[in-house]
Amino acid sequence: MTLTASRPQVNETFRTTLNALDIPARLLLGPGPSNSDPAVVAAMNRQPIGHLDPAYLDLMDEVQSMMRYVWQTENPMTIPISGTGSAAMEATLANTVEPGDVVLVGINGYFGNRMVDMANRYRADVRSITKPWGEVFSLSELRAALEEHRPAILGLVHAETSTGARQPLEGVGDLCREFDCLLLVDTVTSMGAVPIFLDNWKVDMAYSCSQKGLSCPPGSSPFTMGERALQKLDQRETQVANWYLDISLLRNYWGKGRTYHHTAPVNMTYAIREALRLVMEEGLENSWERHQKNAEKLWDGLADLGLSCHVAKEYRLPTLTTVKVPNGVDAKAVTSKLLADHNMEIGNGLGELGGKVWRIGLMGYNSQSENVDRLLAALGQVMAEI
Ligand SMILES: *Cc1c(COP(=O)(O)O)cnc(C)c1O
Repeated sequence: MTLTASRPQVNETFRTTLNALDIPARLLLGPGPSNSDPAVVAAMNRQPIGHLDPAYLDLMDEVQSMMRYVWQTENPMTIPISGTGSAAMEATLANTVEPGDVVLVGINGYFGNRMVDMANRYRADVRSITKPWGEVFSLSELRAALEEHRPAILGLVHAETSTGARQPLEGVGDLCREFDCLLLVDTVTSMGAVPIFLDNWKVDMAYSCSQKGLSCPPGSSPFTMGERALQKLDQRETQVANWYLDISLLRNYWGKGRTYHHTAPVNMTYAIREALRLVMEEGLENSWERHQKNAEKLWDGLADLGLSCHVAKEYRLPTLTTVKVPNGVDAKAVTSKLLADHNMEIGNGLGELGGKVWRIGLMGYNSQSENVDRLLAALGQVMAEI
């Protein structure tokens, strides 16, 4: 008996002409993903082992400990979620929001809106406060909003990748405790690269991703929940509405029981373990300092090209810089030409800032002085040519 594929005629030409995988060598200086450290790519390039293998269980423990270090937290419930940053983001809301809970979200960029969208899907009573994109919330503005809305959860974005602004978090956790509310923070573009002190700041829940400050491919995303957030989970009257992200199930795999939930993306665990190990090897403070130094070099160089930044220096992220597009310049023509002629990716503006800014990322492995030089030279050349 011969086996025949069901529709051989459709793809015959495609099948015989398809080349082996060929990826262009890009320098990714946009809002993410960022290039991975070659050591991380090498770590991924190993055979998978079983997700209940004792050797794998050791890797899991190490990843958890290193994530706690990079986030400066002692939360036992600190794990990588299988998926990109948005999966970890959804995990925070899926586990703590019950229908009718008031969730207050600070919207000063694109990702605040995504939090609102997710909280709505878990049937929260969503309220929001807004700021122009590129600005941040003050403590007194947050206090007034907590007084008015009395939320169960306040969600803020520490590092808004759409605007390049850093939301200060000192004092926000105390404020949330005063109003008996959980503090949820997006640290996707800050983890490993910008100072974060989750425990000192009394953050109850946070999430991040692997492909921005951690020099790793996308697909394994740090997630943490403190005692107060776990209590809210334990006191739920309704089941968590998302099976895949349900921490009350996942904690049996990450905890003592080691009970199968879903097959861990084993090779992504190798990758994030190596990525976190590299942060440990460099030293967290040294990594923060490197990001700040290279960002300042970029800002100075942009000024030399006659370009200015969108965010006030005090609140500027070292990982993501929004640069004002000069009048009369076609923003997209510049980014397209940078990619085509120089193999360099920078981002276009998003939402309110579409066409008004470029977004330049210096994240993780890519935060290097030589990359700043290469980008400034290429940007100067492209602007002269168009
Ligand atoms: C990138 C990003 C996310 C989403 O992460 P994905 O890995 O794209 O799912 C969430 N929040 C912020 C601030 C981001 O920059």
